Amino acid sequence: MSVRGLTGALIALLLSSTSWAGAGLPTVVHDGRTYVELIRVAASLQTKLDATPASTRAQLRTRDQVVTLTRNWAQVLVNGKPVMLDAPVRVRRGVWLVPESFVDRVVPTLVAAAPAGAAVSRTAFAPVDVTLEDLRVRSYPSFTRVVVETSAAVAYRVESSGPKEARVRLVGLGSGTRIEEIRDGLLAEVRLERAGPDGLLRVVFEGAAGTIRASTLADPPRLVLDVARPTEPAAREGREQRGPLKMIVLDAGHGGHDSGALGPTGLMEKDLVLDVTRRVAKLVEERLGIKVRLTRDADHFVTLRDRTSFANRERADLFVSIHANAHRETAADGVETYFLSSEATDSAARQVAALENGAVQLEQPSGRPSGQVDIVRAILWDLAQSEFQTESSRLAEVVHDSMTQSLRISNRGVKQAGFYVLGGAAMPAILIEIGFVTNPREERRLKETKYRDEIARAILAGLAEYKRAWDQRARATAEPPSMTRAR
Ligand SMILES: [Zn+2]
Repeated sequence: MSVRGLTGALIALLLSSTSWAGAGLPTVVHDGRTYVELIRVAASLQTKLDATPASTRAQLRTRDQVVTLTRNWAQVLVNGKPVMLDAPVRVRRGVWLVPESFVDRVVPTLVAAAPAGAAVSRTAFAPVDVTLEDLRVRSYPSFTRVVVETSAAVAYRVESSGPKEARVRLVGLGSGTRIEEIRDGLLAEVRLERAGPDGLLRVVFEGAAGTIRASTLADPPRLVLDVARPTEPAAREGREQRGPLKMIVLDAGHGGHDSGALGPTGLMEKDLVLDVTRRVAKLVEERLGIKVRLTRDADHFVTLRDRTSFANRERADLFVSIHANAHRETAADGVETYFLSSEATDSAARQVAALENGAVQLEQPSGRPSGQVDIVRAILWDLAQSEFQTESSRLAEVVHDSMTQSLRISNRGVKQAGFYVLGGAAMPAILIEIGFVTNPREERRLKETKYRDEIARAILAGLAEYKRAWDQRARATAEPPSMTRAR
């Protein structure tokens, strides 16, 4: 039975299948014999494959079968029972190859072992048409994470990792081209391109090459690439040694076609927070002598991801997002300050996060439905790596205290929730809800220039205090002048 003949056998076994992704598996000739790449067999059967270019053994695992292959051996073990192939298993340029007889002699037993009518077996061996669901990139101080979410599990192979780019082949991923510009100092961009029947992910470095760690996760199926920054001795020791606090990115929420919360007399959150943010920026630059960059300085739309990407690119020390709140109870009032967490402090906090995360829907005028579930999933997942929760909570406390002390306003507390906009920040990050535009009394106050200045001054005072503590720590942990080490 040839590779092509196998297709027929599988169709006979699986009545629900019309084709098998293994149909016409590409073959390669090695030492005059016909071989198939093991990864393609695994991908078309949707089985788990453990094989590395350097390992002596490889394992192909279905739900109840294990096939063990040994490099340069013609004998393989199927659940411990030897099966002879007509040629040895080879590893050529890091790629595991099995002779065609593997497809004839071993694959049918894997397929036959699964009860043909059972739902489980259908899932395990159904025709696979893997498509791209999402491609996400997040920058962190020590690494950048690229996530390729697919419609079904995808086998991958890191093909090369050179000084300019790394290439990862996603076997059988049939999708169009995607380009994500990153420019975070480590990666310039990632490109997903077609390469025959596969997808080819090109990870292009901006400067020195990073080291790549790849893994797959289920539910949803995704390939996760963590690209570690090449270690610079100076940067390795932590943020404190980077010196005094020098730069803050201020993020005025919403903008453009996303107006945010709306007050009873028409005050729009996007206008209010832009004005307040500008006032804070001016004060911080004047009084603290540090640089401030704004994610927007006009009434236009900025995606949530671009807001933190900008801060990461600018290498900001802090990210402060300024918003105003809304509630269907018009009596709701007060300020609250948030930092990112996977667990919301309470259901009210969860609602605020859901409201602010709603902008993600506005980012996607068309295309696949991206519900809250997707967003929250992305956040939770990214958060696992958040290195700044402690610092963010400290920043939130200090700024929040300053606001509640000087503004004579109800104190709703420092809270945690899954804010998408904070998720990508490679620095301490908070979100301030300066008041409720939906409360008629607060809306009236929030319209006053004088009150906006008060808010700005309160935020400034909080940032000033935080900066003092930061700079003190920077001095304390700075390398003491050493007599034994020449500069
Ligand atoms: Zn908002």
